[in-house]
Amino acid sequence: MLETGTRERLRNLPAVDAVLRSPGAEAFVARHGRAGATSAVREALERARREILAGGEPEASEEAVLADAEGLLSGRGLRRVVNATGVVLHTNLGRSVLSEAAVAAAVGAAASYSNLEYDVAAGRRGSRYDHAVPLLTELTGAEDALVVNNCAGATLLALSAVVAEAREEGLGEPEVVVSRGQLIEIGGGFRIPEVLELSGARMREVGTTNRTRLSDYGRATNESTRALLWVHPSNFEIEGFTESVGVAELATLGPPVVADVGSGALLPLSDEPVVERAVRDGAALTIFSGDKLLGGPQAGIVVGESRWISAMRRHPLCRALRADKLCLAALEATLYAYRDGTAREDLPTLRMLGAPAGEMQERANRLAAEITGAAPDLLVDVAPSVARSGGGTLPLYEVPSYAVRIGGEGVAADAVAEALRSAATPVVGRVADGRLWLDVRTLLEGDEEAILDAIGGLGG
Ligand SMILES: *Cc1c(COP(=O)(O)O)cnc(C)c1O
Repeated sequence: MLETGTRERLRNLPAVDAVLRSPGAEAFVARHGRAGATSAVREALERARREILAGGEPEASEEAVLADAEGLLSGRGLRRVVNATGVVLHTNLGRSVLSEAAVAAAVGAAASYSNLEYDVAAGRRGSRYDHAVPLLTELTGAEDALVVNNCAGATLLALSAVVAEAREEGLGEPEVVVSRGQLIEIGGGFRIPEVLELSGARMREVGTTNRTRLSDYGRATNESTRALLWVHPSNFEIEGFTESVGVAELATLGPPVVADVGSGALLPLSDEPVVERAVRDGAALTIFSGDKLLGGPQAGIVVGESRWISAMRRHPLCRALRADKLCLAALEATLYAYRDGTAREDLPTLRMLGAPAGEMQERANRLAAEITGAAPDLLVDVAPSVARSGGGTLPLYEVPSYAVRIGGEGVAADAVAEALRSAATPVVGRVADGRLWLDVRTLLEGDEEAILDAIGGLGG
């Protein structure tokens, strides 16, 4: 039974709507967007409720709740941004947006205890490395699987484990063979030659920047060869006089093939390497990112032969690179969408990449009209644009799209871009041809409202 005073105080808490209608709320909503403002008010009320239940007497006026909500939002470093760049997997803007099911799974794992490392049926310790394994093996046809923190870490771990095995077996200085055309930098200083050095392997380069043949690998392969490394060139393309060797051919040479397919997809999208294909082609280990074309949380996923996956699990780096429970929960939910055949509808990344151009044109037209309604003095039009998958997928994977363009003669596009970036919910577009382009392909539900809020603040 609650004490009368406590019950009274709980009853006196204002409703969410009342707070959002109170003086000052309009500016608050304009600053943070309706969705963000509403959830902050809910959170502020929830805090007040908890404080009352704990015997406290917080000030419960609408103004006080609003101030508390403002405090919740203002100090936050990592916050929502509107991606109007048309780059779906924008590395600087957080790559993949999770599906509703993945968000719910991550929230669930965050808010309660879980069987992260516990075998509920047996009543004893389990392993976090077991969770996504059945789904990954089912989806890729591989024998075994391992999930770590990110793809760069998975590549380092795979090479380190292969090298460590060789040392245990006393097989001399371990070598890893790699094409000169694949000695790439992924970004953020992650360079294949340096990763190989870190793993303890001696790098054996073969071929040239533009052409490498199977015979090049063949000549370099000997009893010291511990692996053949194949890396997807991800963020650049060589055109013209080129030749390269695929995983299937490499697998004929004998040593295990470690294939870092980067953005590897589970569904055929374009020319992107499909994970299942690398497995079928005989890669001993296939490594890919969780938050690129897979459309899930940041993770490094490895599928392949049990022997090598076990070697990776035993390696000390595995513990250092382990994925956390939020990631594992979101990843499992993402993988279920593939298993259930709903990935193209459920995962925002695939939905954005697959939406028809006509739909984008309608969306751009609607947004342009709304912007013109809100700011009749702005020069606004709609133009065909090119969206990209981004995030270290083929840079040439482009999708026709539409953009709302703001500016024109006499308007400094850079200034408009800067003003939209400094809005309560920053809006990031791209400046080209003297205008700010807002590509609608990467907009999420509710983003139009945030854009209109930002536009509303332009004159002021
Ligand atoms: C993107 C990429 C990586 C790094 O993936 P992260 O998930 O960002 O660590 C590694 N290798 C290739 C080929 C990539 O494209």
